[in-house]
Amino acid sequence: MRLMHDRKEVALSEQWNPDGLVPKAEKRLDMHRNRQHLFTCYHSTNVKWLVESDNDMSYKVDLDKKSCACGAWEVGGIPCVHVMAVIFPMGHDDNRYVD
Ligand SMILES: [Zn+2]
Repeated sequence: MRLMHDRKEVALSEQWNPDGLVPKAEKRLDMHRNRQHLFTCYHSTNVKWLVESDNDMSYKVDLDKKSCACGAWEVGGIPCVHVMAVIFPMGHDDNRYVD
């Protein structure tokens, strides 16, 4: 019984951090933070942006609607790298944009 309890404790401590994100989500956010500099951002308003990658792909980001043209933000609930390219340089807390 004790062993099961210990395993549960370990599992809980590995799954959650104080911000409430599971490690997998935090890892993905980190990856997006590390790659955000690869994109160039142009804004039409404070919340609507066009994010361009090196290979000439571009993505429309709407911070109010929590949407990106790549679709990953809506599906995963975690800001994609395009959103990160917008919010990271502004110093926004990316946890604010996690659903
Ligand atoms: Zn995206």
